[in-house]
Amino acid sequence: MTVLDSRGPDPRNGSSLDDQETVERPVGAGAVAVEENEPGVSGSAGPEADNGSTMSPVASGVESGPRDLAAGRGPAWLDAWIEANAHRVLAWRRHIHAHPELSRAEYETTAWLTEQLTSVGLRPRTLPGGTGLLCDIGPETHQPRRTVALRADIDALPLAEETGLDFASTVGGAAHACGHDAHTTILLGAALALATAPHLPGRVRLIFQPAEETMPGGALDVLAAGGLDGVERIFGLHCDPRIPVGQVGTRAGPLTSAADLLELRLSSSGGHTSRPHLTGDLVHALGTVITGLPTLLSRRVDPRSGTVLAWGAVHAGEAPNAIPQHGFVRGTLRTRDRETWSELEPLVEELVQGLLAPLGVGYDLHHRRGVPPVVNDSHSTELLRAAVGTALGEQARTGTPQSSGGEDFGWYLEHVPGSFARLGVTSDAGEAKDLHQPSFDLDERALLVGVRTMVHAALTALDD
Ligand SMILES: [Zn+2]
Ligand SMILES: [Zn+2]
Repeated sequence: MTVLDSRGPDPRNGSSLDDQETVERPVGAGAVAVEENEPGVSGSAGPEADNGSTMSPVASGVESGPRDLAAGRGPAWLDAWIEANAHRVLAWRRHIHAHPELSRAEYETTAWLTEQLTSVGLRPRTLPGGTGLLCDIGPETHQPRRTVALRADIDALPLAEETGLDFASTVGGAAHACGHDAHTTILLGAALALATAPHLPGRVRLIFQPAEETMPGGALDVLAAGGLDGVERIFGLHCDPRIPVGQVGTRAGPLTSAADLLELRLSSSGGHTSRPHLTGDLVHALGTVITGLPTLLSRRVDPRSGTVLAWGAVHAGEAPNAIPQHGFVRGTLRTRDRETWSELEPLVEELVQGLLAPLGVGYDLHHRRGVPPVVNDSHSTELLRAAVGTALGEQARTGTPQSSGGEDFGWYLEHVPGSFARLGVTSDAGEAKDLHQPSFDLDERALLVGVRTMVHAALTALDD
């Protein structure tokens, strides 16, 4: 999920574009529920101690993995890999969680992932920006019948963690409060499990994407690096505190919304408030735009598109009797509809110009386009739903509503069909914390659920 900038969104003040900010009701339960005495617990601590990263091991000592909610569902090589490695999966997540890195600064995470992937003979390549990586599994000597991509985002948020966990962030002002530590862990687990498959009917491309929490997002870096070249279909998932652990939500069609940032700066020669007719009355002009632009948009855009402009910041002036020379207003402009999104920028420009034309002020409109909506392809979503059923059982399949937040996975779906899922991370007991809250945490049983989901999504799509 994406926030507007790198200055540290406060999840309580609505400054984030994250779709989970728009949760309509309190989310359910959600404390960590690591099963300490479950199968798949043999072996030593996690692999952190012997990797080449400078990230110090924090999560060592994890000797048991989370309970595998779909143990024995197969295929046999996947069951075997999970049983042998569940404790490592848990250690990975805690290690990444303890060492969060902000968008486009994920150097240690990238190095650590590279170590893990190369340790099983895979050959990841780092993206040109130095963070994030691509890695192919499967036939390399000839063009495979098809290539399917699996994507995880690896960046953390600029906020201070308040979970009190043993493996809480060791980095001040950075925290994995959006669950990207889980996404990264899940994709790594899927990769290492797939690497043990005796046969793959095609190629799987792993995309460990940087900078999801920025606008317009690291997905564009992946695309620029040719990350989708040859890819037929792409899948991804995101933690969802509204869904119980063990379930995976899917939805065909729009899943998230487009979100843009608007900033309008006004200028005037200023003057005495007793003579507003002799200058551009800047505060009045700001007020005109603040109320007028949302109103006009509601009459120029199809209301079915769910287009909403909401201002989040405004400032101008100090003295009660002086018309200021400068002022600004900032807000977010969201829409659920892909076509509407493409038409908003010139429309906003037209309306602002029309509103301000009689008022004698200058303006500078900065319309920062964010991300398109995630629009899940229907066939890819069918494949994903089938994969969830195969991987976890019918009871694991659930639906999910379209949200009003942004997610840069939408950029991939502008190029290839695919589907993005919601991974349940909420326990049966306790009170769940929302994404982007400093106290956000997840039920770690979701990690293995995620691994099985991603592996089966790839297998199902390759066999399609
Ligand atoms: Zn997020
Ligand atoms: Zn996120």
